[in-house]
Amino acid sequence: MVLTRSAPAHSPPLPAIERPWAAELRAAPALWDIARAVGGGPFHVIHPATFADNLTGMISALADADVRGTVYYGKKANKAAAWLPECARPSAGVDVASVPELVQALGNGIRGEDIGVTGAAKPDGLMWLSLRHGCLLAIDAADELERLGAVARTHGETARILLRVRPPSAPSSRFGFAPDDLAAAMRRCRELPVELLGFSFHLDGYAPAPRAELAAALIDACADARALGHRADRISIGGGIACSYVSRDAWERFEQDRHDGWFHAGRNPAKTYPYHQAPTGAAMVAAILEHDCGGATLAHRLREAGVSLLLEPGRALVDGAGFSAFPVLGCKPSDGDHLLTTVAGLSMSLSEQWKGSEYLPDPVLVRAPGSPPEAESAGVRTAIAGSSCMEYDVLTWRAVPVPGVPRRGDLLIYPNTAGYQMDKNESGFHQLPLPPKVVIEGGGRWRLDTDHPTQEI
Ligand SMILES: *Cc1c(COP(=O)(O)O)cnc(C)c1O
Repeated sequence: MVLTRSAPAHSPPLPAIERPWAAELRAAPALWDIARAVGGGPFHVIHPATFADNLTGMISALADADVRGTVYYGKKANKAAAWLPECARPSAGVDVASVPELVQALGNGIRGEDIGVTGAAKPDGLMWLSLRHGCLLAIDAADELERLGAVARTHGETARILLRVRPPSAPSSRFGFAPDDLAAAMRRCRELPVELLGFSFHLDGYAPAPRAELAAALIDACADARALGHRADRISIGGGIACSYVSRDAWERFEQDRHDGWFHAGRNPAKTYPYHQAPTGAAMVAAILEHDCGGATLAHRLREAGVSLLLEPGRALVDGAGFSAFPVLGCKPSDGDHLLTTVAGLSMSLSEQWKGSEYLPDPVLVRAPGSPPEAESAGVRTAIAGSSCMEYDVLTWRAVPVPGVPRRGDLLIYPNTAGYQMDKNESGFHQLPLPPKVVIEGGGRWRLDTDHPTQEI
């Protein structure tokens, strides 16, 4: 007999994994002080101390494996300046890909020598500023190498560079030198005003093994480069350090039964971020270092070769370090058995919605101060829409569980949005101002994020 189990009619909950600061602030009167001070919302909240903890974890993973290295914050994950002073410490730096990113890093205390500059076909102006500040440039192609050589020669500078390698596992990637072109580039570096310090790559996906294996292969490339007289003593393995947003149980339950009926208008996304992964963060860095690369761990091979390991994590450093708050404007029935809640703000502030995907951790309804206690069995489900005139401006298509009907004046909080959610795709659509970022400091203090250093450092 075949037992068929019918899928539940509703999505199971996907409660977000939260750091204590975030859960505490959600329940604290300070949340409403902030909301009032910024004119109601929407607003984002960020917590640099959590970023610092994540950074310390990864630096410690390198030290525990007795490997020299540097953790560069891949700053495109979140534009706030408040993370940057946290990177002004030994074994840390910032990875940038534009002049404004570079200027913001310099202005917030990061020395040029601790800044990595990535991105293909960098403009001359970015090359020049990087040269002036002694940044480490990842060079993507032969023509970019020639142009950098020319800019450096014109200005009497020597460029510090890595050559970016196109991963053999991603032959159609638009980034990096094809493996066959690397030897010629290494030879060419001897004729240009550049110092070849090593190699870099950035892989899709979040698996430790391919990163360790490509790093090990590039230790051999460092040996080849040294034979040509180059220093070649470091390898950057890019970003893509994994994060978990929900527990394994919740994610497996969700994935197993997932179907269109759980989503408003049947909008079940074809592809989503893997919201539970293992290992994550510093544990993933440790797993990369412990990976067996032909009879020895990567850590061992790096030590033997005198090669340091550079990382460029973005998302994993801001994991747990921010949330986004949207004020409820209204709530009405839909054609299904769920409600439609509209919030102030736009789905552009949850960038996953702009990849035909969905940011799946459950939003949390925070009742306005003085709200009556929730009646038992008052729970409802709702999709959540933004306040623009576009049919597709929806923050959450999934009918998510909330403890009661959302009311005007409540806040809907999206947990853990600092990594690529809150500000990657925001725009001033409808001439609405961008949501401000509120920086939570110690001792119950908070302030607005500014591009420049604050008075007190
Ligand atoms: C985007 C990017 C990163 C950061 O990636 P995460 O997935 O956020 O860790 C690092 N390095 C390069 C070259 C990138 O393009």
